[in-house]
Amino acid sequence: MGKDNLTAVLYKINDLRLEQTDIPEPKDDEVLLEMSCVGICGSDVHYLVNGRIGDFVVNSPMIIGHEAAGIVSKLGKNVKNLKVGDRVAIEPGVPCRVCEFCRSGRYNLCPEVIFCATPPVHGNLRRFYTHAADYCFKLPDHVSLEEGALLEPLSVGVHACQRAGITLGSKVLILGAGPIGLVTLLVAKSLGATKTVITDLVQTRLDVAKDFGADATLLVQRSDDEATLVKKVHDLFGCEPDKTVDASGAESSTRLALLATKSGGVAVLVGMGPPEVKLPLVQALAREIDIRGVFRYVNCYPTALDLVASGKVNVKPLITHNYDIEQTHEAFETAKTGRGGAIKVMIHCKRS
Ligand code: NAD
Ligand code: ZN
Repeated sequence: MGKDNLTAVLYKINDLRLEQTDIPEPKDDEVLLEMSCVGICGSDVHYLVNGRIGDFVVNSPMIIGHEAAGIVSKLGKNVKNLKVGDRVAIEPGVPCRVCEFCRSGRYNLCPEVIFCATPPVHGNLRRFYTHAADYCFKLPDHVSLEEGALLEPLSVGVHACQRAGITLGSKVLILGAGPIGLVTLLVAKSLGATKTVITDLVQTRLDVAKDFGADATLLVQRSDDEATLVKKVHDLFGCEPDKTVDASGAESSTRLALLATKSGGVAVLVGMGPPEVKLPLVQALAREIDIRGVFRYVNCYPTALDLVASGKVNVKPLITHNYDIEQTHEAFETAKTGRGGAIKVMIHCKRS
């Protein structure tokens, strides 16, 4: 193994640098990974452009990247579940394991979670990186490392659909056709949703959603009147959706989620928009809409992997662009601007 550990470090707003860092030594319960690929997430772009997401602020240089897969190249001395050469997907959040949330199985709510590329924690867009061995998931031979990296957003979709209680026969409205809306669509269909309608402001995104199997799409205009939108949604379903997932974070979408969902149904909020929004709450509570938040995922990687490995879900078409780590700036520019119909931009870390 050479000494090359080219790494993408975010110093501050619009200051992302490629530089060498030390190759870390795995602790007893960790593995050293030769990184293979890292997808760019909206949050990575957000940190680059704004230097913060809510209370998480890039105050000191932070290595970016968290949607990743790699190859085990060294074992910590306690590691039993993996061996050198294993190809793994990396679940980026490692919780404390002892708090009330961890012990009750909701470790995504652990206040002590160490999550890649959420400041001040470093991410894994680099050639070598160490991670807790039990948060690495061995990929079967027929699942690619790119698919392994995509288990991260796919897990968000799995968690969102589980929180929504989507099941055989569900009528599912998905608001926003970005990567998260699309993976939610894929998972909803695999769970047996019999009708799916997805919205977006951008027609090309809806065209992709159609290719991903959406039964109907709705192009939303910012000037659209709310009552008309609700009616359009109901007309497209031929009924009222019993599950809605907001994967856009737009206030108007969150409002639509509450207004369009069938009485007694569930509205799941995944999209993160402004910290405070105005919602038709009384209307929603009087119709017993269950409003449920989603924070990342919990115990979803094994399911996400099974969905991909079994062929029930095909995430590969999410990847529209591929770059080498040396081209990180170009890759981020593509992700930021969405040029060339970018959905998921993948960065490859191996020395070429
Ligand atoms: P994205 O920005 O690529 O996709 C959002 C899509 O919503 C875009 O295609 C956009 O055109 C569309 N949109 C915007 N306003 C809309 C409106 N009024 N109606 C319909 N569509 C609209 O982002 P993404 O990566 O797909 O993530 C989606 C959201 O989920 C983001 O807000 C992100 O921060 C959030 N997110 C939350 C979690 C969580 O744990 N809760 C995890 C991952 C992502
Ligand atoms: Zn904990």
